[in-house]
Amino acid sequence: MMLIGGKWIGKGSEGVIKVQDPATGEFFAEVPKASGKEVDLACKAAADAFTHWSRSLPRKRADILVRAADKLEKKLEEIAEKLTREQGKPLKESRGEVKAAAAALRYFASHLDSPLGEWRAPSRPGTINLVRRYPVGPVGVISPWNYPVLLTAWKVAPAMATGCTVVIKPSSKTPLAVTEFVRCLVEAGVPDGVVNLIHGSGGDVGMTLVRHPLIPKISFTGETETGKVLMREAAQGLKRLTLELGGHCPMIVAADADLEVAVEGGVYRSFRNMGQVCNSINRIYVERVIYKKFVELFIARTAKLTIGPGLEDPDLGPMIDDEARRRVIAHIEDAVSKGAKIEYGGKVPTGFERGFFLEPTVLVDVKPDMLVMRNETFGPVAPIMPVDSVEEAVQHANGLRYGLVAYVYTRDLALALKLADELEHGTVGINNVIGGEVEHPYTGWKESGLGLELSEHALEEFLLIKHIRIKGG
Ligand code: NAD
Repeated sequence: MMLIGGKWIGKGSEGVIKVQDPATGEFFAEVPKASGKEVDLACKAAADAFTHWSRSLPRKRADILVRAADKLEKKLEEIAEKLTREQGKPLKESRGEVKAAAAALRYFASHLDSPLGEWRAPSRPGTINLVRRYPVGPVGVISPWNYPVLLTAWKVAPAMATGCTVVIKPSSKTPLAVTEFVRCLVEAGVPDGVVNLIHGSGGDVGMTLVRHPLIPKISFTGETETGKVLMREAAQGLKRLTLELGGHCPMIVAADADLEVAVEGGVYRSFRNMGQVCNSINRIYVERVIYKKFVELFIARTAKLTIGPGLEDPDLGPMIDDEARRRVIAHIEDAVSKGAKIEYGGKVPTGFERGFFLEPTVLVDVKPDMLVMRNETFGPVAPIMPVDSVEEAVQHANGLRYGLVAYVYTRDLALALKLADELEHGTVGINNVIGGEVEHPYTGWKESGLGLELSEHALEEFLLIKHIRIKGG
């Protein structure tokens, strides 16, 4: 279903989008596909609703966001199951995603008064200066398939909290759970037109949304190359952009690290959601003195991971589709052709000929020029490379165009803080691989993004500043 101006629409002008189950390869559901006409109607509805929503009482907006969070939690099992069916991830991961989306709604509901205005000291006699913030307008929300509900919530919650209305376009690979997320908002009492939902591919529906003259701001998560396309298009209308883009996240393991802890974190963050996470560990640099031991422990831990359909709740489900799996296999083959060795995995697991399964894969003898060491693989591959010093590791870690997240394992606090300063990434995890937390800013440096999500700072992404100068008599 699509939602335009408060009406659910079951039929799109462009037919339907079929939704595939990554665990079987079967198409099991469909949603209507929008044409330019429906994009236009959704943008108009969002623009009309903006007039009253942007002036509504913050408390009213907060109440709606909190009620929507309650609804999400109530329907947790139903939505999690849909998410697992369309995305492939294990059920416990889907449950975690839906819960985290509810947490984002609650967080921004509790922060929506804070940034609205300041009364400033006069700069000349007899003047009063106010600095006020105003919602930017109807926002185009474009989200990817790897965390469809969560990443939609990370945009919709702060946008709605500040008084913006939204037109949501989820990935056409995962439209189902986002539709349920929108249903919860509607059931929570969102006025007509404040939240709109359209389905379609990025190249047509997404692009029409980006170009639409009534949309002054786009909040996007996806690939770096797509982000650049959006930036070029948005330039035509000088639109505001928040871009959360690709990563190629390094992990550095110093000689003094607690190896068991480092391996546990490294395996989890390399293979979670089949490596289809922007903050997945993509390359591991280990000081040479502990390299052999680290690889041995890493393989032993990887071998314990269970694989299966997400609905059976294993550690690892399938990849999203065959195209994604083929790209990962191409990266592995490129590495092997340049001298890397597969120490674990590297093929479709036995008994999983249906669907898009792939073994978690550990590569050694890797070199910086291999694709897997510099392009986003977005799959379950952990290349491990020895280094002579942490300084060398930092050079490698900073050597790419990406700057999303870096991870460091060491017991030496001074070294940890030094590396945290030196790593050119928006997030640095020391002795942990915890993902984005709603209370703290999440931002990509370099070609990993523009602007930020999460924390109270995210509200600024949806606000315009106005200086009001009052001259007294
Ligand atoms: P993608 O760029 O292919 O698509 C993302 C969204 O943009 C989809 O809804 C798609 O339909 C739409 N889109 C594609 N082309 C478009 C265009 N020309 N105009 C408008 N919309 C367009 O990305 P994906 O494959 O869905 O997601 C994976 C990528 O997302 C990876 O690169 C990953 O690192 C990144 N990601 C980043 C973060 C972060 O917070 N930095 C989080 C998750 C995923």
